[in-house]
Amino acid sequence: MRIGIDLGGSHISIGLIEKDNILYKNEHNFSNEEKDNLNNVIEEFLNNEMDSILAKVAEEEIEMVGISVPGRPKNGFIEQASNLKVSNLNLENIINKKTRIKAYTKNDGMCAGLAEKTYGSLRECENGVFLGFGTGIGTAVFLHNRLEELIRGAGHMIIEKNGRKCSCGKNGCYETYASMKVLKTALRNKLGENLSSREILKLLDDEKILKEVEPILQEFIEYMAIGIANFARICSAEIVSIGGSFVYYKDILWERLQNELNEIISKEGLKVKFNIATFSNDAGIVGATLINSL
Ligand SMILES: [Zn+2]
Repeated sequence: MRIGIDLGGSHISIGLIEKDNILYKNEHNFSNEEKDNLNNVIEEFLNNEMDSILAKVAEEEIEMVGISVPGRPKNGFIEQASNLKVSNLNLENIINKKTRIKAYTKNDGMCAGLAEKTYGSLRECENGVFLGFGTGIGTAVFLHNRLEELIRGAGHMIIEKNGRKCSCGKNGCYETYASMKVLKTALRNKLGENLSSREILKLLDDEKILKEVEPILQEFIEYMAIGIANFARICSAEIVSIGGSFVYYKDILWERLQNELNEIISKEGLKVKFNIATFSNDAGIVGATLINSL
């Protein structure tokens, strides 16, 4: 058995996992007040959860603890995670204070990619790409069945000269056009500022509203497809897996995206398959248990 932890901008979750089976899971969604200083909330949650897991399962039965975090973790510390307000936080240290089980931390896009490559939509290929469209754009590239850690950061490739300002300081980054956050902001501007993601989806069930927002969807899909096709080409991917919160919008966006992608790749005769990710919510905790496996 392994323990997987997934820390994101709005939640933390933990799971006791055997292969791709989740034997136990709990999560905590951060309140707005908590978001100002997450260190204590995270530490308390992990301490309680580790106590309750270790009350059920002996320490010796747990092979490792994997931790999925945004940004570029270094020696267990969370770094360059602009959507997460933590200071000097090291989740491995919290685990190490409790147990002697080895803990490892990795970028969340790469963890989600590991779950897809091992158990999901990228299982059938040697060379594959995972792109997770959410607040930003997570990236994991597999060459000859190995995670290629040096190819990263799809969200910050520039796809528009003098384009939109990005949180990284540059202009025209891919994620300022093709992240789900950007799409939802555009839809909220049109349909109502305070709509939740679920409420937006519900409104789009209505044919008339769908028609109204069609230009927004079309522009979004066009940008999304450009980045995906670029990565497919550069990485000689046999399969590209599309994940992240995009998965929740698949009924509306997937067919449009496939059409756009097929139009681009047919021009140069690329042979690549596009799959929707197998994992949605649990990609982080399952993927975290696969750190150092590929
Ligand atoms: Zn950027």
